Amino acid sequence: MSRTDVGLQLAEFAGNLIEQSGGMVDWDEDHTSGTAIVPPELAESLGQHEDVFPVRTAPGEDGLSLTLGGEFLDLASRTIRQFVPATAAFAVSDLPVRKTEFDKAVESSFGWQNARGKVLKGGIVDVSYHSWWFHAVLQSEDTWESLLTVTLNSKSKSPVRTGDLLNTATLSPASEFEVPADVTLQAAADVLQRETMQQAKPFLDRIDATLQRDRKRLRDYYQALQREAGTVSKRTKVVPSAEELQDKLRVVRLELQRKLSELEERYAISGVLRPIAMAEFRIPAVAIDVEIQRKAARRVFRLYWNAMLRQMEPVSCSRCHRTGWNFWFTNDDVEPYCSVCHEQDAS
Ligand SMILES: [Zn+2]
Repeated sequence: MSRTDVGLQLAEFAGNLIEQSGGMVDWDEDHTSGTAIVPPELAESLGQHEDVFPVRTAPGEDGLSLTLGGEFLDLASRTIRQFVPATAAFAVSDLPVRKTEFDKAVESSFGWQNARGKVLKGGIVDVSYHSWWFHAVLQSEDTWESLLTVTLNSKSKSPVRTGDLLNTATLSPASEFEVPADVTLQAAADVLQRETMQQAKPFLDRIDATLQRDRKRLRDYYQALQREAGTVSKRTKVVPSAEELQDKLRVVRLELQRKLSELEERYAISGVLRPIAMAEFRIPAVAIDVEIQRKAARRVFRLYWNAMLRQMEPVSCSRCHRTGWNFWFTNDDVEPYCSVCHEQDAS
């Protein structure tokens, strides 16, 4: 991810956060700098002395600097804690309520590959959705970083693609979390770790390609040295003894080993995934209980129909935790496996 992408991401995040917390940002044309106008308590939470201050994605003397390295993420985390725990007010008039609607929603979304599924019942419930923001940094010769976000259903712990809920217009603040942050922290970290590896793939590929290239150059260079060590000197015409030759070759080999391990060290990659903030949104959903029958074993799963997406939420594989729509079930425990885990299990 390039610097500009991160800048735009941070600007969008800051803009949504400020607007959701009772302020506004008047952006310049490039959308990476602007002026914020906020109530006094929001200014204080964002570490500002004035109610009107500049916002920009570059470091600066005054105002709010939207960078991953500075204090912005800490200020944002504090502001989310103070202003955001929220109840989203959605029109719930046309949620599915009939058994035939539940049947249809489940049937058209999921494939139970080796089991039978039967909808037992459904009903409207309040669900706490947790939106997490993480700061991801990968460090090698070069640095890659990004602000990542995911929203999880705190009951199923499945990620849902609701987009940025801070962007949702009709939120009313609630005083505290209904479901504590640690309920979804690990699941959020798992999802965002995979997301990091995916987003950073071009970066990781580039580091790897550079390492391979430098390795090859070193090998070629030392192979040439080795060949030279083995040949008779043209100038002196002295033939080295077998012992001298062995010594020379050993020195060259050791030198190559040393250089190669230096390379490995230089291109080693370390990564940090740091949770920045969590915001809770309580939103009505439809919980649908489905009984899965695999041979003689039965188990009831609670599936969720998402009111914002107006569709079923995916289910997590019990082994790799990736979400999906097609599942195989184990014989005795009726654990849902995705196609990849099912194949690994069968082989
Ligand atoms: Zn799986």
